[in-house]
Amino acid sequence: MLKKILKVAIDTPLDTTFDYRWNATSTESALPHVGQFVRLPFGRREVTGLILDVLDSSDVEESKLRNVIELRQQITPLAPEWIALCQFAADYYHRPLGEVALPGVPKHLRDAKTASIDRTLKKIRTQAAAPATAEPAPALNDDQRAAVDAIAGTRGFATHLLHGVTGSGKTEVYLNAAQAVLAQAGSSGQRAQILLLVPEINLTPQLEHHVRARFPQLNIATLHSQLSEGERLRHWLSAHEGYADIVLGTRLAVLASLPHLKLIVIDEEHDPSYKQQEGLRYSARDLAVWRARQLNIPIVLGSATPSIESWHHAGSGRYRKLSLTQRAVAHAALPRIGLIDMERNKAPDGLSPPLISALRDRLAHGEQSLLFLNRRGYAPVMHCDACGWISNCRRCTAFMVLHKPERRLRCHHCSLELRVPVSCPTCGNVDLQPLGRGTQRVEEYLQILFPDARVLRIDADSTRRKGSAQQAFDAVHRGDVDILLGTQMVAKGHDFQRLTLVGVINPDTALFSQDYRAGERLFAQLMQVAGRAGRAAMQQDRHSEVLLQTRYPQHPLYRALLAHDYAGFAETTLEERRSAGMPPFIYQALLRAEAKTLGAALEFLQSARNLLPHDGISINEPVPMTITRVAGAERAQLLLESASRAQLQAFLKPWMQSLRALKTRLRWSLEVDPVDI
Ligand SMILES: [Zn+2]
Ligand SMILES: [Zn+2]
Repeated sequence: MLKKILKVAIDTPLDTTFDYRWNATSTESALPHVGQFVRLPFGRREVTGLILDVLDSSDVEESKLRNVIELRQQITPLAPEWIALCQFAADYYHRPLGEVALPGVPKHLRDAKTASIDRTLKKIRTQAAAPATAEPAPALNDDQRAAVDAIAGTRGFATHLLHGVTGSGKTEVYLNAAQAVLAQAGSSGQRAQILLLVPEINLTPQLEHHVRARFPQLNIATLHSQLSEGERLRHWLSAHEGYADIVLGTRLAVLASLPHLKLIVIDEEHDPSYKQQEGLRYSARDLAVWRARQLNIPIVLGSATPSIESWHHAGSGRYRKLSLTQRAVAHAALPRIGLIDMERNKAPDGLSPPLISALRDRLAHGEQSLLFLNRRGYAPVMHCDACGWISNCRRCTAFMVLHKPERRLRCHHCSLELRVPVSCPTCGNVDLQPLGRGTQRVEEYLQILFPDARVLRIDADSTRRKGSAQQAFDAVHRGDVDILLGTQMVAKGHDFQRLTLVGVINPDTALFSQDYRAGERLFAQLMQVAGRAGRAAMQQDRHSEVLLQTRYPQHPLYRALLAHDYAGFAETTLEERRSAGMPPFIYQALLRAEAKTLGAALEFLQSARNLLPHDGISINEPVPMTITRVAGAERAQLLLESASRAQLQAFLKPWMQSLRALKTRLRWSLEVDPVDI
C-alpha cells in the first residue's frame, strides 16, 4: 500500500508544522500534492490543513502519527509563490504560517462538503460574461496618458507612486493600465489577472459598478469581509482557478490566490485601513509591494496624499513618481479652502456664522453641502454640574458617549451600553448636561436651523444595517439630500456631483496628539474631504468652497492645506522625522501586554526587555498605553527601534521564541511597523 507523510500547516497559535500519514485507498488514488488542502484530526477536532511538503518518512514516531481524513483534490493546488507570500508574511510579522495562510481561505473551502465545492466550481466554469456594450471610456489628458504608458510599459518589477489631487482621474489611470496589461498578455497568448485594492468596503460597490460598466466582457471578482460564505467561496475560487480577470477587494484580498497576477493597484495607499489592527497585524500595502517584487510585475500606489514613507521612497528613487496635476473634468477647479477663526467666531452650537451663511447660500441655489465631524454620537461625555459626576466607563479609561436617539450611553472601546440615567447616579441631580458634540447633536441643530432642508447623517451608527450605507450614499447621489453630515465615512472616494460646500467642524484635536502620525493623517483626511467639493463642472459665477473651523488658523498644517501643498507638507514632515529619528528613517516594533493589573503588564514587558542581548536595537522603557484600561484589562507597551530593518528582524525571531517559551498566562502581542503608538 502506498504511504506518504504530509507536512501541513494548521490555523493554530503553535508555531510549527505537523506531520500526518496518508495511505492510498481505492477511492483516493491520486498522490497528495503540495498546496492542497487536507482534512485532519487535530486533538479532538477535525480541521483543515495546507500541505507544505510530501515526504516518504517522518521524524515523528510511527505510533504518534495520525491518518489524514480526506484530501481536497478537486481544486488546483495553491501555487508555490502563494505559499512563499504567506511564509514571508509569517516570518516578517512573526506569526505561525497556519495563522497567515488559512484564515484568508473561504470557510466553505476549509469546512464544507466536497459536493458543494464541486457545485461552485461548476458554476464558475459555466459562468459566461453578460452580453452588454461597454460604457465609453473618457479621453485621457496628457498626465493620465503618460502615467498609463509608464505603468503598462514597465517590464518587470517597479513601484509607481501615482500622486494626483482628488478628482484628477486616478481611477481612469488604473482602468486604462489594467486594460493595457490584459491586452498585452492576450496578444502573446498569456493570461493576466489584475488586483485592485481599495481601503473601504463602502467603496467597493461603486468601483465594481464602474469596472463592470467599462469591461462587461471581463470576469470580475470581489473579496471583502461582508460577503456571505457562499459568495466568498465563489469569488475566491474564481480568482484562484484563474477565471477572474480583475479582483477588487479590501486589504484581505492581498492574500488572494491569483495564479496569473500581472498588475497590482492600491488606491488611497496612505489609508490606515490597509493595516490590520488585530491578529496578524499586516500592512496590505507593504505585502503587495513584496508580492509584486516576488512576481516581477508592476505595482501602482495611488493617492492625493501619499504616506510619508511612500513619498520618501519616491524621493530616493526607490519608487517612480507619476503626477496628475490637473482635475480630469473640464472646468472643475480645485475648491477654494478658507479658515474660520473660532477665536473670533463664537459657535455655541458648533456651527459658526460664516459656515451657517455658506450653508444657507447652497440651500438657496439647490446645491449640496457636506459637513465633516469625526465624532459620532450626540456628545462625547455627560456631566453633572452639581457634583462633578462624569460618564466614565467602568471598564475603560474612557468616557461613555451619549447616543441621544437611542437613549443610550455607549463606550466606543468596550461596547458597554447603559440607559441614559434620568438623574445623576451620585447626587440625584436631574439636570445632566451633555458636553461637547458629535454628529447626532449637529444633526439636531441643523434641523432646527434649516427645518425645510433634507439633512442626512452617515456614520457607523446610522449605517449599522447591512446595505444601509449604500442606500444612504445612493440618496445623496440622486440629489435627495441637501446637507450631508458625517464622520470619515463620508470623506472617502464618493463623487457627489452637486456638492459645492464642505464644512469641517473641529479638526484641531489631532494637532496636539501624542501620535507622531496624527498630523499626516489629519492632512490626508482634510485633503480627502475637501476633494469631495467641486468635482463637477461649475457654472461660471459659482465656485466650490471648503470652510474649516479652527482655533489655530496660523498652524503650518492648515497653511499647507490652504495652498493645496501636499509636497511642502510632506517635505517638512520628513525633515521633522529625520531629525527626531522616526520612521521612515528608523524601524520599529511594538510589544503590547494586557493584564489584570498595570503592574503585571509592566513587569512582563520589563522582563521581556531584559530577556536577550540586543546590540543595535534600542528598547525603550515599558509604558502604559494612552487608553490604559479597555474592558477591564490594563495595557502597556514596549517600543523597539533600530536603524536597520534586517537587524531588527534578526533580533525579533529569537526574542519571540524566548517570549513564547516563558509560557506566561498574560496576553501579549507583537506588531512590526506599528502605526498607532
Ligand atoms: Zn451629581
Ligand atoms: Zn468601556
